[in-house]
Amino acid sequence: MSRKKIVIVGGVAGGASCAARCRRLDETAEILVLDRGPYVSFANCGLPYHVGGVIGDEAKLLLASPALFRDRFNIEVRTEHEVVTIDRAAHEIGVKELQTGRTCRESYDALVLSPGASAIRPPLPGVDLPGIFVVRTIPDSRQIRAWIGNNAAKSAVVVGGGFVGLEMAENLVHRGLSVTVVEMLDQVMPPLDPEMARPVQEHLEKHGVKIALGDGVAGFESHGGRISVKTISGAEHVGDIVILAIGVRPETALAKAAGLELGTRGGIRVDDRMRTGDPRIWAVGDAVEVRDAVTGEWTLIPLAGPANRQGRIAADGICGRESGFRGVQGTAICGVFDLAAASTGASEKSLQRAGITDYEKVHLHPANHVGYYPGAKPINLKLLFRKSDGRILGAQAVGEAGVDKRIDVIATAIQFGGTVFDLEEAELCYAPQFGGAKDPVNFAGMIAANSLRGDHPLADWKQMLPESAVLVDVRDPDEFEEGHIPGAVNLPLNELRARLGELPRDREIWLYCRVGQRGYYAARLLLQHGFRAKNLPGGLLTYDLIKAASNRP
Ligand code: FAD
Repeated sequence: MSRKKIVIVGGVAGGASCAARCRRLDETAEILVLDRGPYVSFANCGLPYHVGGVIGDEAKLLLASPALFRDRFNIEVRTEHEVVTIDRAAHEIGVKELQTGRTCRESYDALVLSPGASAIRPPLPGVDLPGIFVVRTIPDSRQIRAWIGNNAAKSAVVVGGGFVGLEMAENLVHRGLSVTVVEMLDQVMPPLDPEMARPVQEHLEKHGVKIALGDGVAGFESHGGRISVKTISGAEHVGDIVILAIGVRPETALAKAAGLELGTRGGIRVDDRMRTGDPRIWAVGDAVEVRDAVTGEWTLIPLAGPANRQGRIAADGICGRESGFRGVQGTAICGVFDLAAASTGASEKSLQRAGITDYEKVHLHPANHVGYYPGAKPINLKLLFRKSDGRILGAQAVGEAGVDKRIDVIATAIQFGGTVFDLEEAELCYAPQFGGAKDPVNFAGMIAANSLRGDHPLADWKQMLPESAVLVDVRDPDEFEEGHIPGAVNLPLNELRARLGELPRDREIWLYCRVGQRGYYAARLLLQHGFRAKNLPGGLLTYDLIKAASNRP
């Protein structure tokens, strides 16, 4: 019997993991990986940190060499070999050897496409000027480092406020550059809701990064060796270097030319076993469209975790095993100067975009661990869930510590179809330096579950007070004096029982405190005395974020 020949296009996240798993499952197969770049299996996620000098040695970014693939896995890797055609009828690909220009053909029994995505270079005037870079490959980071060094760069403009843009901004600051981030949306970190992105913006500004929001780039000009970034509003941001981080586009040219189906979002269309419409061709990673695990919509979510998992699933299918991809939740985290911002599942924005109205949300601001143990840091947490049955839809968290743990727990709960009732019951590890006997995840579940049970009716900050309602601030008078929401009356929680007579019974009473906890206690008290009380979740801290996010400069 002849050996099965598996050919893989692209040898980084999806392609490398597919190749290695194919070997683990089939010792006899012939496995060939082709990559047009000079490296395979490199850590593109580490590139911003190499630019910033946090990862000093470029070699650390190389996770596996062609020699390692050969010696350990008996996998042949050819770098600087571009796959230029797929002949589906003959089951052959055309390959161009980039060093020599020579071409050859390779047959395949199974073909896996993992060509990734290319960084978008918008067709704007001046976009090809020297000093304007994207960050996708090791040669990119090498060129950026060389440009900074050779030109003694002191300032940078980063176009795009997503996670690659912000990681680059931080790392350029580490290199001593003054940095401006220009973002077309009116917030940084697009996967987050605006009020959750606000603390990230403030943190960047605190570290000296200038943020220009709500303004698209119109073009680039070179003046005396510096690059001027012109925006649609007419503003100008000048830097010695410009980084374009405005997103990626799936690499589909090869698939398209071969007549493979593309989806509505422009990625290669595959089924849940990562099969294209051709029974011999699989596709994985940034190049494919995936189902959003929460909304069920087709989407493009370029992340390393899904690419790796998809590579494994394709390998399973090729080697005769059944396994399926569950869709993507978009679980992601970004660090900016000791602050982490993470999210999983749907945001409020994405639910609204998908026309989903059966949802409710809570905001809370618990500490990452008990307050009495030194070093507790607040976490700004938002949980979205279905109103009808409590199913968790998504979560976002921002804070200096413990953010990853909370979002990972909630991400796992979402994968298992969990509800807010599961979160309130979740048993999580606790000792004073790590968490609380009631973890922030439990708190989020409890607040949400209490609201669904009718024990804790929640008001919506964005509707901000119907005329018929009374707004009551239940903090202490000194806190109230320091600042409160216009129109609020102060009735401190500790005096509430004695002063019930001051509150109307024929109107809704909207309560708030600093973070929502005293407001909850007050709501329970008033509800049991027959009042129509609602609490504003997350208290004044959430109000301030929503207000700042909607009045941003
Ligand atoms: P890639 O890793 O892009 O690999 C595709 C390979 O295919 C490339 O080497 C390319 O040269 C090759 N190729 C393309 N076409 C051909 C062809 N015709 N012939 C031969 N070879 C071809 N994700 C996270 O989850 N967390 C992070 O923190 C994170 N940080 C990131 C930071 C940066 C700066 C970047 C750029 C990405 C980051 N990502 C992160 C995203 C993550 O790296 C990608 O989602 C992941 O690498 C996608 O894997 P892939 O196999 O689909 O494509």
